Amino acid sequence: MRIGKERLKQVLALIGEMFPDAHGELEWDKDKPFQLLVAVILSAQTTDKAVNKITPELWAHYPEIEDLANANLVDVENCLRTIGLYKNKAKNIIKTARAILRNFDGQVPKTHKELESLPGVGRKTANVVLGEVYGIPSVAVDTHVSRIAKRLNISAPDADVTEIEKDLMRKVPKKDWIITHHRLIFFGRYHCTAKNPKCDSCPVQSYCKYYKDVVKANR
Ligand code: SF4
Repeated sequence: MRIGKERLKQVLALIGEMFPDAHGELEWDKDKPFQLLVAVILSAQTTDKAVNKITPELWAHYPEIEDLANANLVDVENCLRTIGLYKNKAKNIIKTARAILRNFDGQVPKTHKELESLPGVGRKTANVVLGEVYGIPSVAVDTHVSRIAKRLNISAPDADVTEIEKDLMRKVPKKDWIITHHRLIFFGRYHCTAKNPKCDSCPVQSYCKYYKDVVKANR
């Protein structure tokens, strides 16, 4: 049996005490939503830290969406070359800038459908943008959220990201989706890490299926 709503509420309250101020760690100018969209595209299979290292140079070269839409591909690749998949990402962010100018009057769109029509933008990226930029309740499932959902038995061990998103949306009140997403990411990034999770000092250890079935069982 998966964890129910009431127990999950207790778990999330404990995680909330650990990370009351959890927030998105990608850096962007709050007056320029396009910067967040690009940063999230760049963060695929790369850490936020690595993205934050390169975006200041990118924005210095291409301060406005029009600048990126008209950019030379090789120049953009040079700005991105320290992160994984940079060639593809360079192509995608230029194409995305063009599509936003062409189809959305230069504004980052506000719906899943429109966001996911942009090159390099999938469900997770759309969810991050909707939550961060527009405050629209959404649950973005990244590698941390996925791992935590499975360890805490919120989702089945073989659940894919779509199923995990649905499980969280069903079990967590809508008003808490955005902050829960941030807190689970902080919990996964700084405490329940993929390797060597800090189980011995974990306040949710007694709720944790992974601890019971894997960590404790192997001691
Ligand atoms: S007990 Fe360990 S595996 Fe379980 S949530 Fe805590 S840190 Fe993660």
